[in-house]
Amino acid sequence: MVKYLISACLVGEQVRYDGRDCLEAKLHALIQNGQAICVCPEMAGGLATPRLPAEIMGGDGADVLAGRAKVIDTASIDVTEAFINGAHIALKLAQRHHVSHVILKANSPSCGSQLIYDGSFSGQKIVGNGVTAALLKQHGFHVWTEQVFLDQLKLLEFFQKSKNDHRTKI
Ligand code: SF4
Repeated sequence: MVKYLISACLVGEQVRYDGRDCLEAKLHALIQNGQAICVCPEMAGGLATPRLPAEIMGGDGADVLAGRAKVIDTASIDVTEAFINGAHIALKLAQRHHVSHVILKANSPSCGSQLIYDGSFSGQKIVGNGVTAALLKQHGFHVWTEQVFLDQLKLLEFFQKSKNDHRTKI
């Protein structure tokens, strides 16, 4: 049964703005064993790969959804509409599959869920959500960054192993 919705770049799809991926083997394994599905909101919204990097200007993803901020790329093109469309496609996917958790790539203007780049293209980050993360959170989904999820998984595996070791000793 599908349990997770994951950013496509994290499971090895080469959908990043620079045509690369950010593969995490443990997340890819969730796709392989049928526990997860993936989406790249920016591509789903109609953008191509490769594409120019974009950042949110004037706020975070929630501000974009409320019409108070925009997503602009390095050529000053307004790509807000594509980001919002992609976020809605990701939301529909999450709802259709009744996923319990969403694991999205940290720091991205679509997928970031703790920090995002500040709109100055200088590498500075601010606290906030990307557009897709904001929309999913507004609809009650638990959104994790890949690092938080992998840290939790490591802890879980550690406790499981300790329990098994304890049982073998008894
Ligand atoms: S971070 Fe999100 S929008 Fe960006 S490439 Fe990965 S899946 Fe696509």
